[in-house]
Order: sequence, then C-alpha cells, then structure tokens
Amino acid sequence: MRTQVGIIGAGPAGLLLSHLLHLRGISSVVLERRSREYVERRVRAGVLEQGTVDTLVAAGVGERLLREGLPHRGIELRYGGAGHRIAFERLVPGRAITVYGQQEVVKDLIAARLAAGGDVRFEADDVAVHDIGTDRPYVTFGGGERLDCDVIAGCDGFHGVTRPSIPDGVLTAYEREYPFAWLGVLARVEPSAEELIYARTERGFALHSMRSPEVSRFYLQVPAGTDLADWPDERVWAELRTRLETVPGFSLATGEIFERGVTPMRSFVAEPMQYGRLYLAGDAAHIVPPTGAKGLNLAVADVRVLTGALARFYADGSTELLDGYSAACLKRVWRAQHFSWWMTTLLHTFDSDDAYGRRLQLSHLDYVTSSEAAAATLAENYVGLPYEDGGPAGP
Ligand SMILES: Cc1cc2nc3c(=O)[nH]c(=O)nc-3n(C[C@H](O)[C@H](O)[C@H](O)COP(=O)(O)OP(=O)(O)OC[C@H]3O[C@@H](n4cnc5c(N)ncnc54)[C@H](O)[C@@H]3O)c2cc1C
Repeated sequence: MRTQVGIIGAGPAGLLLSHLLHLRGISSVVLERRSREYVERRVRAGVLEQGTVDTLVAAGVGERLLREGLPHRGIELRYGGAGHRIAFERLVPGRAITVYGQQEVVKDLIAARLAAGGDVRFEADDVAVHDIGTDRPYVTFGGGERLDCDVIAGCDGFHGVTRPSIPDGVLTAYEREYPFAWLGVLARVEPSAEELIYARTERGFALHSMRSPEVSRFYLQVPAGTDLADWPDERVWAELRTRLETVPGFSLATGEIFERGVTPMRSFVAEPMQYGRLYLAGDAAHIVPPTGAKGLNLAVADVRVLTGALARFYADGSTELLDGYSAACLKRVWRAQHFSWWMTTLLHTFDSDDAYGRRLQLSHLDYVTSSEAAAATLAENYVGLPYEDGGPAGP
C-alpha cells in the first residue's frame, strides 16, 4: 500500500490533518488502534477556542458544531464567597469559546473523511514506524501489512508509538507533574449556570461546565492516584455542593451520573516535534493540564501548521516549511503551556500547610478580577491567541 502521508492515530489531530490534506489534494491513510465506536465515545475535552471553531467551519466540518455548540462570552471565577465574571465580549471583542464535546468533533471528522472516500483503518494492531530518518519511511501494522509513504504524522497521543520510535538523544523532554488529578463526571441535568464556573476553595478546585442544555460536566480536584471506587455519587454531589455553593443564591442541580473518570494532571513538551520524515502533532508532542482547556485546541493548531508545510512540499518540493515545523508550533505550544500551568496554579490547592502560597493565590485572583489589563490577559489566552498565519484558511 502506498500513500503520501501516513497518519498514526484517529484523534482530533490525525482526523483533522487527514481532512485538511484531502482539501489540498494530498492523500493519506489513518491507522487507529481502537474501534470506531470507542473513539467516537471517548469523553474528553469540550471547550473550543475561536480559532478551532473557525478552522473546522472553514474546512466544511462545522455544520453541526454551529447548530449544537454553545457559544460562551465569559467565564466565572468563584472564590472567597463571591463570583467574578471575566467578560470576553468586553475584554476581547468578537472572540468567544464554544462548548462542544471532543467526541462530537471526532464524529464529525470521521463522517467527513468517510463521505469523501477517505481511508481510516480502525483496530489497526501493532503499528510500528520504520526508516523515519530516511526519505522512504514506512509503517507496518496488523501482522504483515505495510504502508509506504513520503511522510509520517505521529498523531497517536501521549502514550502512542511514534514519539518513542525517535532515536535516543534527539528529543528533550520538559515536564511537570502535579500532586493532584481531576475527577470528572457527566450528569443528566440542566446546567446550574449559563457559563463555566472555575471555583477555588480551601478544599480544592471545582469546575462547573456543560455539554448541552440537558447534560452537565463537573470536575473536582482530587489527590493523584485517586480510586474512582472511593467516590460514589453521593460523595461527588456533596463535594461539588461544598465547593460550588459558596455564593448567595446559587444552588447546584443534581441528576444521574452516567460517565466518570480520573484525569492525571501533567505538563509535558518534547522538542523538537520532528525527526527525519516523522512529524509529531497534538498530545504525541505535548500535554497540558486541562485547567486552561488547551489540549484539543493545540492539536488543531499543530495540524494547521503541518498542512501548510506539506502543501508547500507537494507544490514545489521545498522542505523549508517542513524543516521549520517544530519551531513554528512551539511558540504557541509554550504560550499554552504557561497559561495552563498558570490557571492550574491560580485555582488549585497545592499544599494545605502553605499559608503564604494561599495568600499569594488570593492576591493574584483579586488582581485578575479587578484589573482590566489582568482580566484581558486571561481572556485573550482563554479564547485563544490568533494564529501566526493570520486566519482559518491557513498559509
Ligand atoms: C483522559 C483525558 C481527559 C481529557 N480531558 C480534557 C478536558 O477535560 N479538557 C481539555 O481541554 N482537554 C482534555 N484532555 C486533552 C485532550 O483531550 C487532548 O489534548 C486531545 O485529545 C489531543 O488530541 P490528539 O489527537 O493529539 O490525541 P488523542 O485524542 O489522544 O488521539 C490519539 C489517537 O491515537 C490512537 N493511538 C494511540 N496509540 C496508537 C497506536 N499505537 N497505533 C494506532 N493508534 C494509536 C489513540 O487511540 C487515539 O485515538 C483530556 C485528555 C485525556 C487523555
């Protein structure tokens, strides 16, 4: 089998890359370890930056997103017995976020690829990449199948096979682990507020979010290594109430919890995001704690850059943009790393004995909620900074 770009992983990065390449007349094959049902049901992120929405719409896969997504023009920071709105419409006019589940983005992309005759192979076992340091790389999978290609895109997430296949000594890893995780639940209940609430309390962080007018999403800061079995529904609701019902007049609506999971918190960047003819995109190259809602959005930003570089390569044979791929991505990656670390630091309890640290945290929250300049910094990072290439259509 032969294609121009072999893509490992059918998450948002791999699927969107395949679709954007198709729009440029570049062929690809996507190899995914899991089944279609599994990837379409995997509950993860849900906050789309303005640029992500614009990219999906410009690529022709935004119809359902525009119909069912929930545009939000602000978030609330709740602490010290009061709520403070960060008003995007005033601070970053014309830019907003849209709440739309990652699995819905994945469903839309799979449908678009298949409708266009795209080659997406689910349940591809034992994927391995070979000769990535040469200009004739290839992929093997499924006990004997071989895919020859010009370029391989490693879109296989943090635990994939492509990053570890880069020879030792090439990559530098930068990382930070946090002493806590997020316990996330989906509940069949109308959201208790119209916008996301980021709550900082002495007992730890809580987030009130939503997926639709009928489904709410909640997160609780819990110690790293928390066992879900220790969190029956009553305990989840009691803790959410304690952390969210801290302002007059707010009462949390409860309902049936139908999905739950514990997400570890980690910051990680591998540099450079490329080796030979292998290019890493999305979580394969970098991870952020979810507080800043940046993981999925960064994956989209990476594949925009990679699409532009590959389009140039196939147009005139120039590797100039491919050679600069990592450098072009890392500027945004590190901005998102800082923002995600900063939001995490601002809102979570790190060490309950650290009274000095808690006072600093509260002082910083007071600053962010009272200074237009500080609030604008949060707002412009949260809705997503403009792309270097200037727009959704790409270079
Ligand atoms: C449990 C979890 C919860 C999260 N929650 C949030 C959140 O609440 N908010 C937020 O902003 N972000 C969240 N994120 C981050 C966000 O979901 C990711 O940043 C986003 O999925 C990145 O997309 P991606 O395509 O790069 O990687 P992924 O979505 O991880 O896709 C990688 C794909 O590669 C496949 N794959 C892996 N190994 C192989 C292999 N050997 N062969 C073939 N295929 C392979 C995987 O099955 C997967 O389909 C969460 C991430 C995780 C893991």
